[in-house]
Amino acid sequence: MSPADRYSHLCECAIVREGTAADAREWSEHEVQALWFAGAFGKNFTTTDGRAVSVVQFGVWNREAGPDFAEAAVSFDGGAVQRGSIELDMDVADWERHGHATNPAYDDVVLHVFTGCGPRESFTRTSQHRAVPQVLLDLRAIEEPPNPQPDAKPGRCVAPLRALPLEKVRDVLLGAAQFRMRKKSAALARLAELHGPDESLYQALATTLGYKSNKLPFTLLAQRLPLRLLRAAKDSATALLFGVAGFLDQRELAPFDSPTRAFLRGLWERWWPRRAEFERLTLPRELWKMSGQRPMNHPQRRLAALAQIIRHFPRVRALRDACLPEATTEFFDGLRDEYWDHHYTVTSKPSAKRMALVGESRVTDMLVNVFFPIGTAAGSARWEEFVQLPAPLANRRTETAALRLFGDTPPDAKFLRSAAIQQGLLQIYEDFCQRDASDCEQCLFPSQLAKW
Ligand code: SF4
Repeated sequence: MSPADRYSHLCECAIVREGTAADAREWSEHEVQALWFAGAFGKNFTTTDGRAVSVVQFGVWNREAGPDFAEAAVSFDGGAVQRGSIELDMDVADWERHGHATNPAYDDVVLHVFTGCGPRESFTRTSQHRAVPQVLLDLRAIEEPPNPQPDAKPGRCVAPLRALPLEKVRDVLLGAAQFRMRKKSAALARLAELHGPDESLYQALATTLGYKSNKLPFTLLAQRLPLRLLRAAKDSATALLFGVAGFLDQRELAPFDSPTRAFLRGLWERWWPRRAEFERLTLPRELWKMSGQRPMNHPQRRLAALAQIIRHFPRVRALRDACLPEATTEFFDGLRDEYWDHHYTVTSKPSAKRMALVGESRVTDMLVNVFFPIGTAAGSARWEEFVQLPAPLANRRTETAALRLFGDTPPDAKFLRSAAIQQGLLQIYEDFCQRDASDCEQCLFPSQLAKW
């Protein structure tokens, strides 16, 4: 049995899932749309009238007035592929409520997807009186760690872990890490199946750049502005990214310093002629979390990094195929940007010292969340390399997880400076600490450890 299987078995024996996080959580329409487009609900469904339906193509985010996703394709009961649009609503009644039933722009909808419905049967009809097949999505299919953040204090498993030989502790954590890696690999494989290897790589890297507070807007941005569109846009790609992100809505340049004025003017000159075309896709400001970020992690800096990834995509693709940490670090370290090399944000004073556009911990995030999950799925030798990958302890959740499991004195100074060990810690933290409501008392992880 692999370490990941052993960890999975440990969880199955220990975790009583009384409902899931998805039950307790309110989802926004933006979140559900992003999850749908990423294939998080799968691609095979049953319509409300009992037919099997497969989404053959998830299409593209619609720039025109009309349904959410255009150029989609579906097949009912294994029959011929039907092309058209897909509309996603939070409630089945939104179709009528929002006037889609009388709007010819919705006449080509082949599937109406929603996450809620009342007790009364609700039909979906077009202005041509055609009945549109309906699919009710099950939000419980979304596996997400529960929201509560446990207290940052030593937990009940500090003593049993301390009593175990270090090699055994390492085994348990690597089992949890491998289990986590498999889930990431599966999610990336699903994304690649739906959107192709290049688009999925680009979307996954964008999501990682948004980590942690701006994951959703970065994911939406990459879904709404596909790689192929931005690669074709060449010099306008950065302007489209900043425009659709909603960062170019201010015409007044006077408050900025001279390099910033020149930088923003350059973006605006490329964005304004195309803004009407992308207006519908522009992200609302409230999706972004701008405050409370370290200046180095400001979303606009991260967006500039995404623009560089697009610009150098053939090289990024080669890095994915090679999955070599040193080469990946070297590439990101070598990225240059005339403006961002010396500005934290557009409102900060220029810095004389050059700043890396993508810092060390962000590169590690990309290796951990994208390159290695793809690499380990392609060959098991990559797993052994991943286990050797060092990582700074730079994340508050990891620090809290380490404190809960090891107390104030971790096994040894270097032990936690490993990407795999940190991933194992996070998995245990999500599977046990975040699901525990008894202040450790009823948590089964300490007793399960004894059986490892
Ligand atoms: S909740 Fe469980 S795993 Fe977490 S610190 Fe407490 S005993 Fe350990």
